Amino acid sequence: MSITRIFRGTAMDLEQEQKFEQVLEQRCWRYFLPIGISIILFEIYNIIYALHYTDFRLDTRASRVYMVFYLILLTVTVAAIVLRNAISGRRGKEGKSRLCLRIYQVYGLILLFWAACVTVYDQRVSDNLNVYMSAALAIAVLVYMEPLFSVCGFLLAEALLLTAMPYFQPGGMLEHYGTYINSVILAVIASAISIYRYSTVRSDFQKQELIARQNREILRKSEELNYVANHDALTGLWNRRFLEICLSDQCYGEKRQETAVLMIDIDYFKQYNDTYGHLQGDECLRRVASALNLVVSKGRLFRYGGEEFLCVVPEFGEKQARKLGEEFCRSIERLGIPAADPEKNVTVSVGMAVGTIGEREEFEALLEKADEALYQAKNSGRNRVV
Ligand code: GH3
Ligand code: MG
Ligand code: MG
Repeated sequence: MSITRIFRGTAMDLEQEQKFEQVLEQRCWRYFLPIGISIILFEIYNIIYALHYTDFRLDTRASRVYMVFYLILLTVTVAAIVLRNAISGRRGKEGKSRLCLRIYQVYGLILLFWAACVTVYDQRVSDNLNVYMSAALAIAVLVYMEPLFSVCGFLLAEALLLTAMPYFQPGGMLEHYGTYINSVILAVIASAISIYRYSTVRSDFQKQELIARQNREILRKSEELNYVANHDALTGLWNRRFLEICLSDQCYGEKRQETAVLMIDIDYFKQYNDTYGHLQGDECLRRVASALNLVVSKGRLFRYGGEEFLCVVPEFGEKQARKLGEEFCRSIERLGIPAADPEKNVTVSVGMAVGTIGEREEFEALLEKADEALYQAKNSGRNRVV
């Protein structure tokens, strides 16, 4: 396992990394603004307090040093908030989250070094690590940094603390042995918390991404299955199973509207198959189906059986149905597919029936009528509508 993998978790592609940066940015921003404002208010309070305490003279060295500390933190905090808002208000999304995230991280590190400096200076009068401890823990918990980034930051701040403290502490280093040990332990704990927080968010994000991807795949598969289940594989038309669903869902019966049912059958198709073979028969079926489908602008066209199609059009009167049937016949003849008798083209016969349908039985009765009409169309010479 590589070092980067230990620190950063499983690799992600560029798009996912950008999405992850957005997640981190949103999480950081949630705390950044309230904490930033609290720091600004606290520093203003400190400045006023120091001024008031020294009767606006700042006549001790310590008061001047602390005033510089307060002003630095105040300025950096205001600048970080203003900069972050300027970036996030910019148009376009490209790289925005990353830049904002960098601002929080750099601000976090500045705050850490600032706290280390204040703590070093505090050593003149007390050996507590309060400022450094609060800042380190807050940064470890609230600012998401890549582990390498945070570990380096905490180590450098700790190095600064260890190097500078002896210059400010009264008495020898051994006298303050506990402070050194505590600060090292604190740096280790802060680094561990930071790594843990970052890698937990990263692995949670990866799990969510995986689940979202699997859900999308399931949805795609189920749409595919739905399509396969309701369509005829050869022609791509709605299949008979879907007709059954339409009937049981009463798609055609809710309003008791006048509905046209047209049954379309290819003429002499058995002979076509016998002459040209089944494969070409299939090709002919496909071409006929797509030509019929082009004619249908309202209602649905089903592949009803072998070379039979069914067109159901709600809110369609007899005149319109006849026109549609004739359009079916004409469009197939115009396709110019040579029939078994090569002198002629492939044609279809259409039987139609129009009536109101509410119950399934009424639909079946209408189907029977259309079937009888088709029979008549066949017997009266084919390539016609009855
Ligand atoms: P008619 O004009 O009276 O309708 O005569 P026909 O030959 O078309 O009627 P018949 O019902 O006797 O024949 C239908 C033929 O359709 C029989 C079958 O071989 C063919 N057929 C049914 N389904 C398919 C299919 O998916 N592919 C092919 N190639 N042929 C099919
Ligand atoms: Mg036929
Ligand atoms: Mg038939």
